Amino acid sequence: MYYNENTIIYQNGQFVKASEAKTDLYSQSLHYGYAVFEGIRSYKTASGETKIFKEVVHYERLKKSALALNMPYPFDTGELVAATYKVLEQNNLQDAYIRPLVYAPANMSFNKNTESFIVIEAWEMGLFLGDKLLRVMTSSFQRPNPKGFKIEAKATGHYVNSILASQEAKANGFDEALLTDMNGFAAEGPGANMFYEKDSKLFTPSLGNILPGITRATVLEICAEHQIEVEEKLFTTDEIKQQADTAFYCGTAAEIVGWQSLDDVEFKKPWNETVSALVQKAYKAKVLDTAYIVNRR
Ligand code: PMP
Repeated sequence: MYYNENTIIYQNGQFVKASEAKTDLYSQSLHYGYAVFEGIRSYKTASGETKIFKEVVHYERLKKSALALNMPYPFDTGELVAATYKVLEQNNLQDAYIRPLVYAPANMSFNKNTESFIVIEAWEMGLFLGDKLLRVMTSSFQRPNPKGFKIEAKATGHYVNSILASQEAKANGFDEALLTDMNGFAAEGPGANMFYEKDSKLFTPSLGNILPGITRATVLEICAEHQIEVEEKLFTTDEIKQQADTAFYCGTAAEIVGWQSLDDVEFKKPWNETVSALVQKAYKAKVLDTAYIVNRR
């Protein structure tokens, strides 16, 4: 459940009840998918304190997304971070998913707006994609063409593509979809970036046709910290099926979740014996603010 009678959200400088908050039915956001958002997580860290993971990086991406879509952005990152902690506190949340959304006022034309609105919602969230390995299907849907969309922006309209791909995968009995880019290379999931592992080295699609994920960047950081070799390059889904010892999705909601198979082609290595599983543990340690030393055999 996302909210109940008592849930408090932040809306345009005020803390209000979610059940009483109003928005405009004449907005470009509702009619055209013209809004930007973030997906952030907070954790009950090892010390017991609630911490939002990479909150400034997320709010800076929100700003970049809004500016990429020519939306006014009169909001201050520091104030939004403070408001977010207050939303968590008011709703008694520690392990939570936080959803800021910047949306447009009433305007049915395609013209620029002179103002933007913001809402910050939060709800309790544990594991998003579960803790079992995923059966992934190559989607019949490609990611939006970067020549048609600002794909580096987290815009609501782009997620029609994600919904279609995810629903298709589930209708076909899979857990999740893998979308290709407009040239047919492996791109990303509906809401997560991907890596595959071969001979203890990781590979991930280069930037350009994917959302530059904050978790993807964190995985690259973990690789640098633990001397794990990683390469950003373009590759096909056939390469994954032929080469990969294992693969995983990474995203704020998904965290790091391993794959069992792609198009029913099973991966060779047991997850627990992979470098990817070490990265998963190191990621968990980072978000929980505890030390973790990768112990490579
Ligand atoms: N790709 C897409 C399409 C996404 O929606 C997300 C989730 N924001 C990601 C990748 C992962 O991004 P992040 O690690 O910043 O959550």
